[in-house]
Amino acid sequence: MTRIPLDNTGGPKMADYHHKNQCTWCDGCGDYGIWTAVKRALVELGIPPHGVLLCYDVGCHGNMSDKLQGYRFHGLHGRVLPFASGAKLANPVLPVLAHGGDGASFSEGIGHLVHSIRSNYPIVFILHNNANYGLTTGQASSLTWQGQPMNTSPNGIPEHTLNSMDFVFSLEPTFVARGFSGHIDQMVQILKAAIQHNGFAFVDMLQACPTYNQFATHEWLMEHVYDAAAEGHDPTDFAQARRIATDTSKRISTGILYQNTAAPSFYDRLKPREGRSTFAVDEVQKVDVTEYMKEFL
Ligand code: SF4
Ligand code: MG
Repeated sequence: MTRIPLDNTGGPKMADYHHKNQCTWCDGCGDYGIWTAVKRALVELGIPPHGVLLCYDVGCHGNMSDKLQGYRFHGLHGRVLPFASGAKLANPVLPVLAHGGDGASFSEGIGHLVHSIRSNYPIVFILHNNANYGLTTGQASSLTWQGQPMNTSPNGIPEHTLNSMDFVFSLEPTFVARGFSGHIDQMVQILKAAIQHNGFAFVDMLQACPTYNQFATHEWLMEHVYDAAAEGHDPTDFAQARRIATDTSKRISTGILYQNTAAPSFYDRLKPREGRSTFAVDEVQKVDVTEYMKEFL
């Protein structure tokens, strides 16, 4: 049901998203690629900066929040999804993109992720997956490979690594994709499809972190990722999608791995919104509650 607002001046350009603030990411950080892909996807869909809400969690990726134009929100650690989904429900014609890191999203924010997927909120969630807490200087996250020495676990983590994709598929998602921060063209195609998906679009972006991730480096990812579509993958096949998403033992599948276009979104299921020509954001008003309060005086 997303109506993408079109720019009537010939369409937005990359320069429209330009911000004077300079990036502060380390040299070689995968955030540069994801930042570029997000802007390109929005421009190619004809979405101007005033026609999108960009939400950020706390983390290195969150430093993007003042490095591009658009309506932007920078929230608390692990809490980006409640804000993003609430904003979308208030104004369902506004494209909403939520960014979160692997640390927050698969630890303190994991409850929000569970309910966002099962609710099928019609938003895009971009997981900046660098397999560590980069902003706080390289601690292990739930997605750090077991046995990898990290700054606060020099002998490797004792816990086993969470299989994030198996976990996501267990929640019956309606859109799952995986990109790599070094493949900008593919990320753009993934993000354009995710923005147009009527439901919760989970986009796992494998992101190089040359400062703290010495195992899944940019070069290692380059050697191990493959385009699932090029090998004939059918993204409507849930079982096959789950299998190729989960098994990363030899190679890592990328692209749109699964999409169900038939499932209604959370908003489509809201009975109180049926038949309404306005959205909640149009209905905000001051209400005099004096009469109701008299009962308690
Ligand atoms: Fe990027 Fe890692 Fe540096 Fe953070 S610590 S800016 S994720 S390279
Ligand atoms: Mg991280």
